[in-house]
Amino acid sequence: MDGNNSDVDSDNIDWDTEDELEIANYPSTCLTVPAGVAAIGSAEVSTSASSSGSKILDNFVGMGFSAKMVADVIQEHGEENTDTILQTLLTYSHSNRICLDGKSIKGTSNGFFVSSKSFPLRPQALLTLLLAGSSASSSGSKVLDNFVGMGFSEKMVSKVIQEHGEENTDTILETLLTYSALETSPEEQQTERDTSTEGQQTERDTSPDEQQTERDNFSSDYEGSFLSGFSDIDGFSDDEVIANPNSDVENKVMALVAMGYSRAEASIAIERCGLDSTVAELTDFIYAAQASKEADSDYPLEVHPRPRIEKKKRFDCEMSTKKKQRRVMTGDDELIRPPYPMIGYGVPTEPFQQVRRTLPEAAIGPPYFYYENVALAPKGVWSTISRFLYDVEPEFVDSKYFCAAARKRGYVHNFPIENRYPLLPLPPRTINEAIPLTKKWWPSWDTRTKLNCLQTCIGSAKLTERIRKTLEKYNDEPPSKVQKYVLEECRRWNLVWVGRNKLAPLEPDEVEMLLGFPRNHTRGGGISRTDRYKSLGNSFQVDTVAYHLSVLKDMYPNGINLLSLFSGIGGAEVALHRLGIPLKNVVSVEKSEVNRNILRSWWEQTNQKGNLIDLEDVQQLNADCLDEFITKFGGFDLVVGGSPCNNLAGSNRHHRDGLEGKESSLFYDYFRILDLVKCIMSRDQ
Ligand code: SAH
Repeated sequence: MDGNNSDVDSDNIDWDTEDELEIANYPSTCLTVPAGVAAIGSAEVSTSASSSGSKILDNFVGMGFSAKMVADVIQEHGEENTDTILQTLLTYSHSNRICLDGKSIKGTSNGFFVSSKSFPLRPQALLTLLLAGSSASSSGSKVLDNFVGMGFSEKMVSKVIQEHGEENTDTILETLLTYSALETSPEEQQTERDTSTEGQQTERDTSPDEQQTERDNFSSDYEGSFLSGFSDIDGFSDDEVIANPNSDVENKVMALVAMGYSRAEASIAIERCGLDSTVAELTDFIYAAQASKEADSDYPLEVHPRPRIEKKKRFDCEMSTKKKQRRVMTGDDELIRPPYPMIGYGVPTEPFQQVRRTLPEAAIGPPYFYYENVALAPKGVWSTISRFLYDVEPEFVDSKYFCAAARKRGYVHNFPIENRYPLLPLPPRTINEAIPLTKKWWPSWDTRTKLNCLQTCIGSAKLTERIRKTLEKYNDEPPSKVQKYVLEECRRWNLVWVGRNKLAPLEPDEVEMLLGFPRNHTRGGGISRTDRYKSLGNSFQVDTVAYHLSVLKDMYPNGINLLSLFSGIGGAEVALHRLGIPLKNVVSVEKSEVNRNILRSWWEQTNQKGNLIDLEDVQQLNADCLDEFITKFGGFDLVVGGSPCNNLAGSNRHHRDGLEGKESSLFYDYFRILDLVKCIMSRDQ
């Protein structure tokens, strides 16, 4: 994973690799959030006024259930147990959902399906909310963006705006609804899809859900808002520990929507986990809910934790026309999401599960391949990655099962999954074990045992100074409001306790250790601390990767020839070395000179016997080059790579254009090169 620029102790923040930032800072909105619930619209009443006199009723109406239905359910179950009310409402609305075109919606799992064809919410209320909630414009027209954000296709909205002008949003909405109702039925779309050729795919191929996500992705000018959040911290006073809970809730909803969850899932998670819960906690809740739902359903239990897969409603529109040519989208096209818990095909610390998988024919090696990227990428990204990589399903793993820090990643590989083993000694798995000196100062109210994903940048000295000064005002425990604020900052910046009231960001050495690299791996030779954090923040977690690679050891007792794309600071190389797999020839392709130097220096320090060839740019690696290497080495045994995730991860996806983003599209180079290697090697056989 790559980041752009990182900065230490300054306001210049890079969040590129940060897929698990706990507090998302999307632009504030003026949505009113009824106690503990993210407002997503109301069918009957305004979101802010209490019309019924019952707050509980209003809260549920605020979530989009009809007032009558809520009143009925409250009569049935009383007001006390909101969980039961919510569950009953969801059951009712699930069975009663009606599309505008009179057909009920199939295959959705929640009651709030926001698309051009189905509105459980009164359209005008929804429109008002969306107009209020959307702030950034990618097209230049806010009105266009807002309607696209509602799920209408951009093409259709542009056409209607051209027809009616931008002023009268009511007319635009009505016309869009009419057009949507006139659109072909899903069955007809399916037939069209099956007969269409890839090159002809157009804007309308994107499902409303995906469009919604895409708009959500674009509508957050995250970086700006995050930086202003940061200066808020600097202007922190006791009275403003929690600045704006409503916008904070909406920010979290938007963060979850951007990850591909529905607003309903997000709202329910916030309601259940509480307003103060972090985005990571909320995603965990959603995973858990999904998992228990699966367990409760009539379906037989999966024998292993497979990624959750949903049928896509329409075409996938993520690939550029050029790249679409690889495969025709079929009705079987699926949407892949990480499962809960994120333990892939097993981790050493969880009870062993008997797992079998059958690889698609085209995926079977040699060469073996191993591709990595952030697990919580925008909707559709993993389906595309998987489709390109020979339909191998990603294995999603959170490195918190291997070490004391979270790192949620997806890995697509064609290794056997039986008989894996971990690197020994097993690394410490709690913060206090990993950094024992912190234990003495750790307050009981800081309940963290794991760090969040290690990032490319760290919290500022100014921040830790302000926290210290605030905490010094209290002799005993600070009030819960202050505790919450401090904890949020601790989680956001991975701060640890190093003295009384004294928090500090992790040292680069500590990050190295947590990620499984040797001490001083990134240190010295003119490498700045900033560069160290950046390179480490983007790297593999060595223990996790080694666990997957361990199966190669018996297969290659004499060592391997490795093609290492986007090699960074050599996470894969270090993992193989620590497993005791000799590195015969390594072709490492890495753009950053700092990183190339780090890998070269590690190579020399570890007295490697093989050859290290380093190249700069994957885009320059063509068939001739590969042919030459393959002839010389007799083929590559393994092609590893984790392409940059700048446009996929974190809350400040500057241009959250998914796999088509400038850096993220380098995934296609991984695929191109792997496919060439496979091709050349099979030709040579
Ligand atoms: N897996 C690596 C890190 C991958 S991060 C590790 O363990 O350290 C992605 C890497 O891709 C970054 O180091 C970035 O510098 C590199 N990169 C970005 N563009 C590239 C390009 N065009 N060619 C080669 N490397 C590139």
